[in-house]
Amino acid sequence: MPEMKIRRELLEMLFALGKAEHPNEFLAILKAKDGIIEELELAPGTVSNSNSASFCVDMMPLSTDTAGSAHSHPCGLVRPSDADLKMFPKIGRYHIIIGTPYNNDTWRAFRANGDPYDMEVVD
Ligand SMILES: [Zn+2]
Repeated sequence: MPEMKIRRELLEMLFALGKAEHPNEFLAILKAKDGIIEELELAPGTVSNSNSASFCVDMMPLSTDTAGSAHSHPCGLVRPSDADLKMFPKIGRYHIIIGTPYNNDTWRAFRANGDPYDMEVVD
């Protein structure tokens, strides 16, 4: 299994999305090409408030190039919640959580089981 990397522009787009949606969460589907996450698709049917979010996983446009997901934690805690751990395996293998203030220091990647994953950022 090749390592998964992420394009810096896309990561910055995720920071911008987090800021734009704050204090709500956003959820995006991450798409990879040749082992690099380069595209995102915003999840439809997102229902969220400042404390919790529930996503309609069944409505997501999952396909073979889906690498995983990215979502924000407006509370700032960059750690998968119990709900996240249930959602991750349904979407893909790699998952990014971005906490406030949505920058390079406040994001982390995880595997579907919730283990931290040291995702490389490529220019
Ligand atoms: Zn979460």
